[in-house]
Amino acid sequence: MTKITVAKGDGIGPEIMDATLEIILAAGAQIEIEEIEVGEKVYLAGNSSGISSASWETIRRNKVFLKAPITTPQGGGYKSLNVSTRKFLGLYSNVRPCTSLHPFVCTKHPIMDIVIVRENEEDLYAGIEHQQTDEVVQCLKLISRPGCEKIIRYAFEYAKQQNRKKVTCFTKDNIMKQTDGLFHEVFDEIASEYPQIENEHWIIDIGAAKVADTPEEFDVIVMPNLYGDVVSDIAAQITGSVGLAGSANIGEECAMFEAIHGSAPLIARKNVANPSGLLQGAVMMLNHIGQTEVAEKVQNAWLKTIEDGVHTVDIYKEGLSNQQLGTKEFAKAVMANLGQQPTILKPVSYSNNNAALNLPKYKRKPAAKKKLVGVDLFVHWTGLNPDELAHSAKKLESSLIALTMITNRGIKVWPEGFKETFCTDHWRCRFKANEEVTINNAHIIELLTKAFKENIEIIKTENLYSFDGKAGYSLGQGQ
Ligand code: NAD
Repeated sequence: MTKITVAKGDGIGPEIMDATLEIILAAGAQIEIEEIEVGEKVYLAGNSSGISSASWETIRRNKVFLKAPITTPQGGGYKSLNVSTRKFLGLYSNVRPCTSLHPFVCTKHPIMDIVIVRENEEDLYAGIEHQQTDEVVQCLKLISRPGCEKIIRYAFEYAKQQNRKKVTCFTKDNIMKQTDGLFHEVFDEIASEYPQIENEHWIIDIGAAKVADTPEEFDVIVMPNLYGDVVSDIAAQITGSVGLAGSANIGEECAMFEAIHGSAPLIARKNVANPSGLLQGAVMMLNHIGQTEVAEKVQNAWLKTIEDGVHTVDIYKEGLSNQQLGTKEFAKAVMANLGQQPTILKPVSYSNNNAALNLPKYKRKPAAKKKLVGVDLFVHWTGLNPDELAHSAKKLESSLIALTMITNRGIKVWPEGFKETFCTDHWRCRFKANEEVTINNAHIIELLTKAFKENIEIIKTENLYSFDGKAGYSLGQGQ
């Protein structure tokens, strides 16, 4: 018997959770349920996180969490409970299988069996945002080596366990050479440890286009958080419906299982929602807790039900479907098929070890030789001619540090800028130290003090380092 935490959520949540639990219990799931309240009611009672500390305790104690979708009220400083659950509990891996059910569910892609493995904790989802000038706001994109290593190793170990043939990586490292560059670099390092699994890398734009066009060419795809969020919804939708896909959020200690769709408030309490997405999440949960036989029984009964043309309204299609059922009745149909297998769709067999993956703990590498080589000073300035800003900024120079470049939104505007380049009020002045000298933070403070005296408004600084002699910063565009 495994104790699990259950949250019925908002909108269609309670209906699809009841249907899901009824099916898995009928299939023999050995689970003890501890229910908690999260979401809209908790938010509107004045708790901006959507969850009480007692509920956090329950989730942390039981370690396995089956969650229905919740409604995050708009505005008012409410924090997304999904994002905070993933981050608080260290659920670094988001696994979303997207498989087409042709010819029983209408899709343009009859052959499609993709698993998206999405990094779940960092990237732009760190949510570190600032307004810096009247015209410019920024969001910090944080990518870490442990974050990359954990998710990429997870993807390869998952592929190995599931007997999948290829792992593809999507990044935009032609533009983001440091952040996406690190993700790609770690992908190449880890891929070399798995010679039996094919590996490839695509730039995300053409990669996503290929997923939408020829999904049959992909197997497991691993990517940073934001790209994974977008591409997994595309992949789920083109199998026929977002209502069909489930997702597992896996960490070293805890795991959370859910549907990928939201709380669909417009169809709530009408007994029309498709419980399949949450049921798919529950099947992943049963595998995770080692109840693979029950998982297999549920999945095969569900496939048989879909194959019989017994469908909820979202996937019902005249000519393809035989019967349109409500949420409760669909659950009963799946239960009636427990013990049966599909005949045209491929039945699943989870007899190979399908349980939770046990990955080695991250080991920090020895520190590199880190050298401060300069600083980018970001300036709020409403002038138009970069030569004027350069004239003022040059007054900050010393025998050790010189102004080497000014950019506006990343593009070089001084020296030798183009008059056609559109400029905002947000400028970056790059100061570099002479190669022979060693500088420290005191030199940067000196620069800032001089800037203050010259009435140059510094809104932020970013130190420039080299690591083992390699530049740890990008060049200006056009530099
Ligand atoms: P949504 O996924 O709830 O709905 C999108 C569309 O898909 C709607 O037309 C809906 O009716 C349909 N749909 C979704 N699930 C379905 C199902 N199981 N059966 C049949 N049709 C289904 O997305 P949204 O409308 O953008 O968001 C609604 C709310 O859900 C928002 O408050 C959002 O914050 C929240 N949300 C929660 C989660 C989560 O808890 N994991 C994820 C996404 C959105």
